[in-house]
Parts: sequence; structure tokens; C-alpha cells
Amino acid sequence: MGKVVGIDLGTTNSVVSVMEGGKPIVIANAESMRTTPSVVAFSKDGERLVGQMARRQAVLNPQNTFAGVKRYMGRKYGELSADSKRVPYTIRRGDNNEVRIQCPRLEKEFAPEEISSMILRKLAEEASRYLGQPVTGAVITVPAYFNDAQRQATRNAGRIAGLEVKRILNEPTAAALAYGLDQQYSQTVLVFDLGGGTFDVSILDVGDGVFEVRSTAGDTQLGGTNFDKKIVDWLADDFLAAEGVDLRRDRQSLQRLTEAAEKAKIELSGVNVTEINLPFITATADGPKHLETTLSRSQFEGLCGDLMSRLRGPLKQALTDAGLTPDQIDEVVLVGGGSRMPMVHDMVRSLIRRPPNQNVNPDEVVAGGAAIQAGILTQEVQDILLLDVTPLSLGLETIGGVMKKVIPRNTTIPVRRSDIFSTSENNQTMVEVHVLQGEREMAADNKALGRFKLMGIPPAPRGVPQVQVAFDIDANGILQVSAMDRTTGREQSLTIQGSATLSEEKVQQMIKDAEE
Ligand code: ADP
Ligand code: MG
Repeated sequence: MGKVVGIDLGTTNSVVSVMEGGKPIVIANAESMRTTPSVVAFSKDGERLVGQMARRQAVLNPQNTFAGVKRYMGRKYGELSADSKRVPYTIRRGDNNEVRIQCPRLEKEFAPEEISSMILRKLAEEASRYLGQPVTGAVITVPAYFNDAQRQATRNAGRIAGLEVKRILNEPTAAALAYGLDQQYSQTVLVFDLGGGTFDVSILDVGDGVFEVRSTAGDTQLGGTNFDKKIVDWLADDFLAAEGVDLRRDRQSLQRLTEAAEKAKIELSGVNVTEINLPFITATADGPKHLETTLSRSQFEGLCGDLMSRLRGPLKQALTDAGLTPDQIDEVVLVGGGSRMPMVHDMVRSLIRRPPNQNVNPDEVVAGGAAIQAGILTQEVQDILLLDVTPLSLGLETIGGVMKKVIPRNTTIPVRRSDIFSTSENNQTMVEVHVLQGEREMAADNKALGRFKLMGIPPAPRGVPQVQVAFDIDANGILQVSAMDRTTGREQSLTIQGSATLSEEKVQQMIKDAEE
């Protein structure tokens, strides 16, 4: 039997961990690094590069270097913001409104799941090398705020990588598991995870081997990259005003700007002023042009006001949903590279009125928790009870385009709930079930997870037939829906497949392709 590892599949960085002697340890990659950039590239000879090697050649090969693909997982092209479509490689709308990633070098297109599977494959291989035995299974983490489609996409990426996906685990829950493994006393912990592309807040009661999530909130389209983009725009707008050239229009310049912006941002976590130097960034009729400037921490903070208020919202909501005031939080655990920014640190500190815990490694704690969950599933770790929740309300569209909630957000999973619906017209023989996820009142404002039809309802006046619709959310946070006509007993069930998730047929094809 092969080994089961824990994998933190991050937007920016990924980490693989395994249980050793009752504790999670991080496995370093072949380049001796404990984190692996979530980047895949295809070199001039069409060779596949994953991680640091891919990241290093991004400026020279922007069109064939794919970073930040997690932002596209389980999303329809039409759902993407203008910002998240602006990357140095090309993405396009597929026939089903899905996101397609173009690779000119191979004259091929990829689904986001395939690119992610290559990162997972690399980490699993690093782990097998270290362990001296094959890795066959994995617990893979996702942002707690990922919806059903995003979770399914992540699970499919694992399958395409040839792994048995033992569990999809929420990142902040994983962080709390790793943090709380050897805590003796019961406490209420707030996990604040600001990564490269996503943001999560979870509040848990931890103690005596029980980890119970009370609430979770977040934004799957907010992370360190948004802060980088503020600097990119600031640099590019200045340059445009001075030189009349928009550097964002050239892939290579955009890639260089993006890298310089991220570097400046990271430096500003430690120092008050940083220099940005980009020689030969472009050329005009007057000859080569250089970009040379300085950015101060307070200037940078001034650019990020809207991002800071986007961070405050979920933080407050998580507290409200947990029914807690800030002084009832015993411990704050900061996770993710973005939480190293002083403005973020200070904001959390002032809102919760408590200095964050300094003992957890923000880059590794999520993978550690995934390894512990793997240990729980293989019974290597005992006496731990984990109770997670569903982050978003689930429901159905009813008359007038209104969403009727069947399972409210922050309900403990696994859970099964059902509700009875009826027809709206006389002699209606078919009802369409439109499954939604989200908090808004109107169906159209929420995420449409999928539709299915229940046919063969015997003719009857409207309102008489009784259709029972049941929702099952499993421990992965993935939904299964079934509908039953109570008079005929006719039942239909399905795993929700919207156009943002791959069909089973496609997944099988990709598994075959990947094996080759
Ligand atoms: P993910 O889990 O999404 O892969 P990480 O937790 O690895 O993300 O965080 C990556 C993000 O954190 C990037 O946007 C990176 O620029 C940012 N980051 C890393 N270190 C720092 C730092 N010292 N100051 C500010 N941002 C940082
Ligand atoms: Mg992360």
C-alpha cells in the first residue's frame, strides 16, 4: 500500500507534508526548498518545468509559463474579473464558457485542472523520493470559501495526477489542526489566511482533540496578487503619463513589472522605502527606456485602501456568524505570505485586540494540517474529531427567481437536508431543479451549480404534486442532490456538474493523457 501525504496546493506556493513520529514534517523538493512555486512552464524544447525552474524563466517565456492557475479552478470564463484575466499568458473562453489556457509552445490548450495536476504530480514525486515508497493518495487543501465547483475541480486535478484524493480539506481548518495538535486547553482560535490569490477567515473551538469550526468567511478572488497589481498599475500609469507607453500591453514588460512589484511589496514588509529598477523596460523612437523609482511603505499602503476594506468584511462576518465578540477570541493564527504585510498584521491586531500567535510557520502550517488529516484517515493519528462547516448557503430557485435556502452557511458537515417543492402550473409533468450556492436573495445573483430535470410527474393541479429535493454535503464539502416525486417514488440523483466543472468523460481522458 502506498503512502498518503498532505498537500497544500496554493495559488503561489505549494507544500507537501507527511506524518513522521506523530508529527507532520515538510518534505523539501529536489531544489532543497520547502515550498514549491505553483508554476508550470514549457521550455523551448517543450520540456515541462514545474516549480522554481518554471518560475525562474518566466520573463523570457511569459506565454508558456502558467502561474496563479488556482484562480481559474472551477470557474466559468464569464465569472472572471478583468483583473484576474490580465496575466502574461493567454486564457480564452471555451465552448462551454470554461477557462482554457493556451500553450503556444505545445500548440495545445489546457484546463486549469491539468496545470494544477502537474504541480500535484511533482509534489507527490518529491514525497515518494523522500519516503522511498510510492505515494498513492493525498489530502489536498482548498480555501474554506471555495464553492462546490472549485472543490470538484481540485479533486479532479488530484485524480488527473494519478492520486487517490482521500479528502478535500479547508485550509484554515488544516492550519488550526496543526496549531492545535498539542494544545492542552480549550480555546477559541481565529485563523486568518491571506495567500497569493485567496483569503479565508475561520473561527474554531479547539480542545481535547475536538476541532469544531464555528464559522468561516472569505473571498476567493483576493490575495497578495491584488496588492502586486496595485504597484503594477501605479508604475505603469506613471510611465504612461511620462513616456506615452502602456507597459501592461507587452507581455514581457508586464511580467517584469509584476515580478518587480511583488519584490517591492515583500521588501516593504521589512523596510520603509524600496527602490524599483527596471532597465530597458521598453524602447521608443528616442531609444531605450528605463524605469527607476522608489516606493515607500506609506505610499504603498495608500494604494491599498480598498483591499484593506475587502479584508475587514469577512473578518467581521466570521465573528458575527460565530456569535462572538473580538475579546472572546483566545488566539489569532496568521497564515499565508500576505499576512506578513504590516498593514494586514496591524489591522487584525486592532480589530481583535490581541497580538497574533508567533509560533506557527505561516507557509507550512496548512500542509502540516493536511498531513495530520491524512494520518487521521489512515488511523496513524487517533482521537481527533474534526467538525467542519459548509462556507456558503445551498438552495434552489423557486417562483419569481428567488433562492430558497435548504442548507444555510456554516452548517456542520457532513449534512443531509431535504425540502418539499411543488409544481406552479396545472398538469405540469416535469420540474427543473436549479441548484444554487450563495447568500443573495435572488437566484441570479448566486452561483449556479447546475440544473437537472425530474420528469414523469403524473398530471395534477398545480401545488398538488410533492417533489422532495435532498441535499447531501459530504466531508469534502462536495454536494450531491437528489429529487424524488413522492407520489410515484421516481428518483433522480446527480453530482452537480455545471459548465465550470469537467465532465467525468473528460477527466478520464485527462487521466489517460497524463499517464502517457
Ligand atoms: P498561497 O497559499 O496562495 O500559495 P502564500 O501563502 O504562499 O500563498 O503567499 C503568497 C503571497 O504572499 C504572495 O502574494 C507573496 O507575494 C506574498 N508574500 C510572501 N512573503 C511576503 C512578505 N514578506 N510580505 C508581503 N507579502 C508576502
Ligand atoms: Mg495558502
